[in-house]
Amino acid sequence: MKKNHHTMFTILLSLLLLAGLHVNGQTIGKQYPVDWEMVAKIREEGFHRSELPNTLSYMTDVLGARLTNSEDMRRAQAWAMDELKRIGLKNRKIEPFMDYGVSWDNTYFSLHLLEPDYQVMVGYPIAHTPGITGRKKLDVVIADIKTKADREEFKGKLKGKAVLSTPPPTIDLTRYSEGVQRWSDEELREKAEQPLPPGPRKPRPPANPDLITNVERNTFFKEEGAVVILESRSGWPGAVRGFARPGAKIDKWAREETVAHLPIVAVNPEHYNRMYRILERDIPVKIQVEIETTIGKKVQKASNVLGEIPGSNKKKEVVMLGAHFDTWHASPNASDNTSGVAVMLEAVRILKVVGARPRRTIRIALWSGEEQGIHGSREYVYKHFGYPDDPEIGLKPDYKKFSAYFNQDYGPGQYRGIYLQENEHVRQIFASWMEPFKDLGMTTISSQSVGSTDHVAFDRVGLPAFQFLQDRVGGTGGHTNMDYYDTLPIDDLKKNAVIMASFVYHTAMLDEKLPRKGN
Ligand SMILES: [Zn+2]
Repeated sequence: MKKNHHTMFTILLSLLLLAGLHVNGQTIGKQYPVDWEMVAKIREEGFHRSELPNTLSYMTDVLGARLTNSEDMRRAQAWAMDELKRIGLKNRKIEPFMDYGVSWDNTYFSLHLLEPDYQVMVGYPIAHTPGITGRKKLDVVIADIKTKADREEFKGKLKGKAVLSTPPPTIDLTRYSEGVQRWSDEELREKAEQPLPPGPRKPRPPANPDLITNVERNTFFKEEGAVVILESRSGWPGAVRGFARPGAKIDKWAREETVAHLPIVAVNPEHYNRMYRILERDIPVKIQVEIETTIGKKVQKASNVLGEIPGSNKKKEVVMLGAHFDTWHASPNASDNTSGVAVMLEAVRILKVVGARPRRTIRIALWSGEEQGIHGSREYVYKHFGYPDDPEIGLKPDYKKFSAYFNQDYGPGQYRGIYLQENEHVRQIFASWMEPFKDLGMTTISSQSVGSTDHVAFDRVGLPAFQFLQDRVGGTGGHTNMDYYDTLPIDDLKKNAVIMASFVYHTAMLDEKLPRKGN
């Protein structure tokens, strides 16, 4: 027995040495082991005892929309703090990041076509626009103003009117006729086989000096005495897309500017186009509109929500996972990004339940201000980690202690792979960690950089940060009034929470921090 033990020990030792063998400075072999036992526990918890359906339903049905700095958002952040506590996270906090204008909440809205026929119309007010006093019956006119000359043409014709301010959108019927297909094997292969970063963008043509800005156009409507601006910017059947008042970013969501502006109402394309076509026949259109909004009195700070699973022997080092908690205001935004937030909450819940003892600290971040320009994550990164290329911000001590950030924000589709963000140093590591999830369809590594969400804030300052390659799925009415629980692919999201938990865990257990670009 003793001799056998010794022989086995020698064989094991040789295998370990082989595993770490260096050839020409390149380490070969399995240097990024998978903790298969931990993966098994994570899968069991995530697939057999998932809390995702409950979390997603609560967030979309009970909490609803969460516009940055709204009262809706404050209520939801208080819930998130309770949820982090219930899960068992430490160092929970609501951390303010910037002065962010006054709060804005829509509290009541109705829109009806009165003449030439009665119809309820679907729309909603644009963020950071004022309400209307009482119930208004208004004549509607087409006022599609793009140039200075157009403006002259409409002088004196808009007083007391509701104006159709955008051209009638063309409705995209391919959503009905073809639906939305998941990525095919061929398309995934193409994503994996595009090793070179895209070339420089074509320079923009010079701006046409005759055009006026949206701010100038809306100022003209106000000067001319119009009462409400109607618009429709969506070609999606039945959906209303609408964001914030033009100029709100520049005046920093100021109370004065909001109160002084005309109300703007986004209308769904079918109803908007109906009014447009009637008016083109020279038949009058009359509507009734009622809008109540609550506009805050004083400037407040927007905030992120954070919590931690403290690490053990490397607890000063941090691995982060996150998603933006803020949404646009017309629906609960189940896909963008309630789904991402729920996945992050579920991932840390799974890690707590399976008794994970990470070496590094695992920190969850539920960002705010993403929809208005990735403000929450950017300000957080500047404050805690710094920006070496910007001397005004400089390098913060925690920059050295950061390992990686993982984000979800490309809808609710399942992870089919990951984007390396042009960091080839992590290819082998991620390939190894994807191994236990091949059966879930997690197979593709794309070298490319992707953008438009919170991992960019980390990547820009040189910190490893990643977004998963998510499946294309139907039903996602991101940024519209049609983004509810019902169209979420819950099984996709369960897979994501399991993969996220495993990636974060393995990052927290690795001997070294994840390698950075250019190292
Ligand atoms: Zn988003």
